[in-house]
Amino acid sequence: MTDFTIKNAMLRAYQYPVNIRIKDGLIASIDVVKGDGATDKVEISKPNNDEAIDYDAKGNFVCSGFFESHIHLDKACILDRCSVEKGTLDEAVEQTGKAKENFTTQDVFERASKVLEMAIKKGTVGLRTFVETDEKTEMRAFDAIKKARDKYAFAIDVEICVFAQSGLTTKPKTLKLLKQALEQGADLIGGCPYKDDNPDEHIELIFDIAQEYDVDVDFHLDFDLDPKDSSIPKVVEETIKRGYQGRVSIGHVTKLAAMDKMKRGEMAGLLKQADIALIVLPATDIYINGSDYEALIPRGTVNANPFAELGVKTMISSNNILNAFTPFGDASLIRMANMYANIAQLSTDDEIADAFDMITQNAAKLLSMQSQIVVGAPATLVILEAKDEVEAIRTNAQALAGFKNGKQTFNNAAAEIYFLE
Ligand SMILES: [Zn+2]
Repeated sequence: MTDFTIKNAMLRAYQYPVNIRIKDGLIASIDVVKGDGATDKVEISKPNNDEAIDYDAKGNFVCSGFFESHIHLDKACILDRCSVEKGTLDEAVEQTGKAKENFTTQDVFERASKVLEMAIKKGTVGLRTFVETDEKTEMRAFDAIKKARDKYAFAIDVEICVFAQSGLTTKPKTLKLLKQALEQGADLIGGCPYKDDNPDEHIELIFDIAQEYDVDVDFHLDFDLDPKDSSIPKVVEETIKRGYQGRVSIGHVTKLAAMDKMKRGEMAGLLKQADIALIVLPATDIYINGSDYEALIPRGTVNANPFAELGVKTMISSNNILNAFTPFGDASLIRMANMYANIAQLSTDDEIADAFDMITQNAAKLLSMQSQIVVGAPATLVILEAKDEVEAIRTNAQALAGFKNGKQTFNNAAAEIYFLE
């Protein structure tokens, strides 16, 4: 292992630039740069994995890297085989269902690899991916994701959530395959009650499996604009009944955006009570919801900041990349946070800083991954072209370079302008 220093870095807890010394993959020291201790040496185009070369962060902001709490690697990058015209949930499910039948292990591996490389280059160091195991894909996608997880482990930690996207209560084969995946190394289980004929029974069944294998639970939930008939009370009830507080998360939950303030507050209280995490997926939520409106199209994305203020764990994530659910995407979490902040009409620095937590420390905690920048911690660090986390979100800052366990994993140097004489 090499011993080197990331110089002139701005850290969240420090007022002045610091030098971060890295030894044997860990943070060995963090020292405030005194006087004009700035170095002129710039070595940003060469990885320092073989020899000790210091990295000059030039006063840019250094963070722990980003964490995707909700992404689908198995069905990413399939726009070339889908017909996307209406932009509705039904169309997305139907088109993806057709495409899934032809997924091969190699095909899923290649597309997952592409997205993981996108994510690494955008500064993401950990993610939770859903993987569907049903009569259409059987174990092919799961096997492919495990292979991709191993290939990219040097740069990014991948958690696998085996997922019942298309119903469960009337699909014994899906139930069998979910259990098979959990036996073969899936980290947790995901459910989707709104795509099941019996949503409440679906929720119970997912919890039954989770308890059997002692794994966490993640639901796609309440994905429409009708403020009524939320599944939150049912998930809360089952979470408490089974002692699963702190082990459950819910994604989308766009019904919350349609509820009046009092009802939304009531739901926030329930989530807090059961310690259920809320994951907002702005790119998909804004694309799918309201496509039948001709004017004043609703956003569908809930403002998670008031939930965070009440003590609910909150995250922002990418969900889908280049498919019928979201025909856009670059796996950039800073772009997702920027989009969220814009949709949620955040304005103050404090509000923006809370949004930064939603793609960093909050998500890392959900995934049980480490995100502390302290002496003794793994040297997993990402340099952003900004002076702090607030500017990073406001300007959609570029990730300039990243290190995992003390080894540089990517370089994406800042653009330069060649001024004319
Ligand atoms: Zn999803």
